[in-house]
Amino acid sequence: MNRHVLIIGAGPGGLAASILLASAGVRVTVLERLPTIGGRTSSLEAEGFKFDLGPTFFLYPRVLEEIFAAAGTRLRNEVELIRLDPQYRLIFGEGGKLDCTPDVGRMEREIASISPQDVGSFKRFLTDNRTKFQQFLPCLENPYLGLQDLLNVRLLKLLPMLRPHQSIDTYLKKFFKDPRLRLAFCFQSKYLGMSPFRCPSLFSILSFLEYEYGVFHPKGGCAEVTAAMARVAERLGVEIRLDEPVEEILFTGRKATGARTAQDVYHADALVVNADFARAMTRLVPDGLRKRWTDAKIAKKKFSCSTFMMYLGVDGQDNLPHHSIYIASDYRKNLQDIEERHVLSDDPSFYVQNACVTDPTLAPRGQSTLYVLAPVTHQHSNVDWSKERQRYRELLLHKLEQAGHTNIRKRIRYERIITPADWDSRYEIFRGATFNLSHSLDQLLHLRPRNRFEDVDGVYLVGGGTHPGSGLPVIFESARITSKLLLDDLGLATPRMNQTPPQQRVVETT
Ligand SMILES: Cc1cc2nc3c(=O)[nH]c(=O)nc-3n(C[C@H](O)[C@H](O)[C@H](O)COP(=O)(O)OP(=O)(O)OC[C@H]3O[C@@H](n4cnc5c(N)ncnc54)[C@H](O)[C@@H]3O)c2cc1C
Repeated sequence: MNRHVLIIGAGPGGLAASILLASAGVRVTVLERLPTIGGRTSSLEAEGFKFDLGPTFFLYPRVLEEIFAAAGTRLRNEVELIRLDPQYRLIFGEGGKLDCTPDVGRMEREIASISPQDVGSFKRFLTDNRTKFQQFLPCLENPYLGLQDLLNVRLLKLLPMLRPHQSIDTYLKKFFKDPRLRLAFCFQSKYLGMSPFRCPSLFSILSFLEYEYGVFHPKGGCAEVTAAMARVAERLGVEIRLDEPVEEILFTGRKATGARTAQDVYHADALVVNADFARAMTRLVPDGLRKRWTDAKIAKKKFSCSTFMMYLGVDGQDNLPHHSIYIASDYRKNLQDIEERHVLSDDPSFYVQNACVTDPTLAPRGQSTLYVLAPVTHQHSNVDWSKERQRYRELLLHKLEQAGHTNIRKRIRYERIITPADWDSRYEIFRGATFNLSHSLDQLLHLRPRNRFEDVDGVYLVGGGTHPGSGLPVIFESARITSKLLLDDLGLATPRMNQTPPQQRVVETT
């Protein structure tokens, strides 16, 4: 008889795991609390406008390509991926801008325009990180189930290159003298919800991945990727049950045996939790069964930042790039406000996606969408969003006007705001920390909640809350790691994934 696995949550992690498990012959049921699939990678649609709820940068498609290959299909047959060039514009509060392009020649000219002394450093950065990435990749693809995995020879050999205790910013001083250029190659640590002044230097591979393998816009938005994943999963026989929140994981002793929803009781050989780790554990697994991740211990962990979001459907189309990132004039203070003081900055950094310049399908003719994201503190008693919501909206609209989105207030035809309080209560994200547990050294690898969850039997984790961490490519990697562990434990073979070596750069130097 087929083994049966329950997956709690139809986010990208849960869907990727469902594809891999079903490809191996497992009967899979996905239970999703919301009426839609995709989790944070879903879309908001209203009045003819379509926005991504969360992710807008689709990076490093290779992992998902391999997962689709295991299911007998190709990612590019299911979703149209548009490579962006320039991949984004950076605007520095202290002056200057950069149109960041993967074309080495053009990028060097951009660098020369703000810091002639740094010409040549981009190439050196790419070369150094190419080696770092190629050597570290096999380590990322492993599970970390204990200290013994950390002491493996491959990882130990890499330590001098990874410089685990050095921050990205310090590491980048080796290449770039101008602090704005260092920011250009380290602001990506914000994808993990972390300050580059604290984030381990290993994560310089994030900006490298953008330049080396591209920043993509999936036509229709990133939610088209999760929609395609759900289609592929259903073709393999996965049952996705929407509007069905899991209220409790059922146990016999320490062994998980199923789950109870408001509608039904399900029995299974194993469970995969894709729901936000800290929220799911504290709600679905009795505290008494947990040892390493009790409610009290979870409360003491470090959590990522949150985000204040504005989704605007506007008249007209602004002649600005697809992605623009505005870096506060005092970036260090902005980050300290977010991570240490837990207060709102008066001069915040923020990001605007003006996706209709690439993809007019997202808005009615003559109109366009603007997605505005400002990183802010996760839920904290210092900030009461019922009071701050309106003030922050005004502040960001003012910043948008300054940034070239002229007459914005008069052009708004549709508007939706999501605050950290909404992420917490409506999207069930612990403290509204949109990027999960933070990625500090003491919460990485075997110190992160493990893919085969260590506190009880028969429970596995997938998604941003487990190893390797947050962000779509690594979430897909977590699905591969977790599915392999689970299939091994069930005595089943892992489907072939045709692992391909990372491709070479596709953009030629001009
Ligand atoms: C604003 C924002 C911007 C981001 N930008 C990027 C980006 O540009 N690029 C990138 O790579 N990453 C980005 N991320 C990070 C990350 O890739 C996404 O958040 C991703 O969707 C996380 O996937 P996941 O599988 O961990 O979980 P989720 O997407 O959170 O999915 C978990 C699912 O579990 C469901 N669930 C929860 N509780 C229950 C329950 N009790 N019963 C049943 N179901 C339940 C939820 O409803 C949800 O559908 C961004 C995140 C946010 C929030």
